Amino acid sequence: MRRKLVIGNWKMHGSRPANAELLSALLAARPFVSDVAVCVPFVYLSDAASSLASSDIRWGAQDVSAHAQGAFTGEVSAAMLRELGCRYALVGHSERRALHGETDAQVAQKAQAALTCGLTPVVCVGETLAEREADQTHAVVKRQLSAVIHLLAHCAAEMVVAYEPVWAIGTGLTATPEQAQAVHVVLRAQLQAATGRGESMRILYGGSVKPDNAATIFSQADIDGGLIGGASLKAADFIAICRAG
Ligand code: PEP
Repeated sequence: MRRKLVIGNWKMHGSRPANAELLSALLAARPFVSDVAVCVPFVYLSDAASSLASSDIRWGAQDVSAHAQGAFTGEVSAAMLRELGCRYALVGHSERRALHGETDAQVAQKAQAALTCGLTPVVCVGETLAEREADQTHAVVKRQLSAVIHLLAHCAAEMVVAYEPVWAIGTGLTATPEQAQAVHVVLRAQLQAATGRGESMRILYGGSVKPDNAATIFSQADIDGGLIGGASLKAADFIAICRAG
């Protein structure tokens, strides 16, 4: 039985007072049946660590360098994130792929860097609207995941995968539960074939998950929780989604 996982992705939002309010609301709403985490901007990781350290809510980063250390101005290494107690690092979010040109190979290297330092990479995959309309959805997500599987080899079973159709992120459009479930089945089969442990791995859905659709989406057999963007910034909404698992 896979335990549900709900991760908030704050993106580049927040301020110290607003974050403190959000996290204290989250702490007060425990216990949750699902595992819960927040991926916050780098500069707020230390505050998140202080607020959440004595709770079962985890924290993580929204990106990680593929490099261990060196002359990489502006980058943050997995070892640094680990020092701040991070449990998770998002890698390959579609905004990073689209706005920063991250390739499948770079995403795989970031996932490897995270795992090497004891972080759980949350590997994001997903198709654009044009790719879905061209009936390329399965081919695209399998290609994205396959790059990571190849590099991580036997460690691939340690990652979390997030299926996030690009056309559903921040748009208010959501994949139907059946559309999402169909892709999750494909991803799980790929993970099972590669690692032999696909049945125990968590595959999250992300893309305009809100309190009113979370329960139906999370009730699908192969959807093990969600990666939540916009709704993770509103305490009441995020708490309702965490309870929907
Ligand atoms: C995301 O940023 O990963 C995301 C799913 O955003 P939203 O929930 O706002 O669509």
